[in-house]
Amino acid sequence: MKKIHVIGGGLAGPEAALQAASLGCKVILSEMRPLRSTEAHQTPDFAELVCSNSLKSESENSAPWLLKQEMRRAGSFLLQAADKAAVPAGHALAVDREVFSQHVAALIAAQPNIEVRREEVTHLDENDPDTITILASGPLTSSPLAKELQRLTGADHLAFYDSISPIVDASTIDMDRVYFAARWDKGTADYINCPFTKEEYEAFIDALATAEKIEQKSWEALPSEPTTESGTPAINSSASANLQYFEGCLPIEETARRGKDTLRFGPMKPAGLTNPKTGRWPYAAVQLRQENLRADSYNLVGFQNSLKYGEQARVLRMIPGLEHASFLRYGQIHRNTYIHAPSLLTETLQLKAHPSIMIAGQLSGIEGYTESIASGLLAGRYAAALARGEHPTPAPRLTANGSLTHYITHADAKKFQPANITFDLLVPLEEELRKKIRDKKERHRIQCERALEAWDAWLAGF
Ligand SMILES: Cc1cc2nc3c(=O)[nH]c(=O)nc-3n(C[C@H](O)[C@H](O)[C@H](O)COP(=O)(O)OP(=O)(O)OC[C@H]3O[C@@H](n4cnc5c(N)ncnc54)[C@H](O)[C@@H]3O)c2cc1C
Repeated sequence: MKKIHVIGGGLAGPEAALQAASLGCKVILSEMRPLRSTEAHQTPDFAELVCSNSLKSESENSAPWLLKQEMRRAGSFLLQAADKAAVPAGHALAVDREVFSQHVAALIAAQPNIEVRREEVTHLDENDPDTITILASGPLTSSPLAKELQRLTGADHLAFYDSISPIVDASTIDMDRVYFAARWDKGTADYINCPFTKEEYEAFIDALATAEKIEQKSWEALPSEPTTESGTPAINSSASANLQYFEGCLPIEETARRGKDTLRFGPMKPAGLTNPKTGRWPYAAVQLRQENLRADSYNLVGFQNSLKYGEQARVLRMIPGLEHASFLRYGQIHRNTYIHAPSLLTETLQLKAHPSIMIAGQLSGIEGYTESIASGLLAGRYAAALARGEHPTPAPRLTANGSLTHYITHADAKKFQPANITFDLLVPLEEELRKKIRDKKERHRIQCERALEAWDAWLAGF
């Protein structure tokens, strides 16, 4: 049997390693931290969550719920760890990040088939007949490895930018000015809401518009800007021109730039957040989500930004309730690297040109923590089949997992953008059924039901 080399001890890598090892394969798991870190990681830990602590919705029949249900049914190791490390977050699954990483480390340590190597991998051997490689080095893949990938794929990488939300010390929030509530009273009231009047909102938007942004840092330019044969940059780093943002993760100053009310219809949406003091919705609201089990820190939901730290302190303290806030972490802008999956990847996450090399996690063009773990789960299972000399069967198109892979491998090559799991990616109901069932929730319920059926049948094949 071939051995499996997993590169990257973030989210996809450990899940892939644990899956393959539990199926009897010998796995080497290489992680470069702490020898070398990335711009976003702060610890040497496996499965570090670099920004928010949320693994998204647990609302039944939502798309993120479906993805997680499929993963649970397949025995996802990282989701088990997340369930054990959960902190209150209404209808979402949020975790204490340190406890989560500790559980993942314990799972890896307890698996005799995994050998951990703390090393930066700088070379990929596409012709090694004895090894299946899973490249799960993430959106901040180190530059020598990115160049290796460039050598192997011969096609253009893509890169875009997104950003980190600030975290505030809970003891410095003015609790008389804010209130706990769940939007539309859905789930428990775990979010702290900072309510704005119209005047406060307008002053905030004005301050945002004039606040100074951080100049682009050197690491934001991608690894030595390799060029294609034609001489054009092979990695679209947008280093000096317009930065490319992922639409789902726009910095607040960019959202604000698009219109005075855009934030009120985005991350500062007040709808469904009744203030108990007034019995009404505020004009706008900032939501704070609990960061850890101790509840001594909260993150500002959707408040990723790239303002200078001093400017962030000034502007964010204009948020009602945060006038004297102490920030434990400021928002940041960061690099994100991913391959052009529609032209490079098969439905079993193998490079078309080099089938013994697989790509998993964010680097494969999916987006998000849960999606990255899911992709690791698939890669680990496919790699185990390949290591045994079998042909892996791709996850069914009807499932959430299958839909994510289907999206990255079949998306319009010219407009390819990473995606989170949404119902848009799933197979829609047949025309006739759609006409009959007008209720969107009922349609989603049916889509989930048939996804889980297809998933169970696929799992039975292992
Ligand atoms: C700053 C930032 C904030 C994000 N915020 C969110 C968020 O709030 N919510 C969300 O759902 N998603 C978020 N994402 C997107 C994505 O979900 C995460 O990046 C996620 O961690 C991706 O998982 P991964 O396993 O693909 O990569 P990672 O978790 O980054 O793991 C890759 C690992 O590979 C290691 N590595 C890199 N190069 C090498 C090498 N040459 N040799 C050995 N090891 C190497 C790295 O050290 C890292 O540990 C964010 C991404 C970034 C960059």
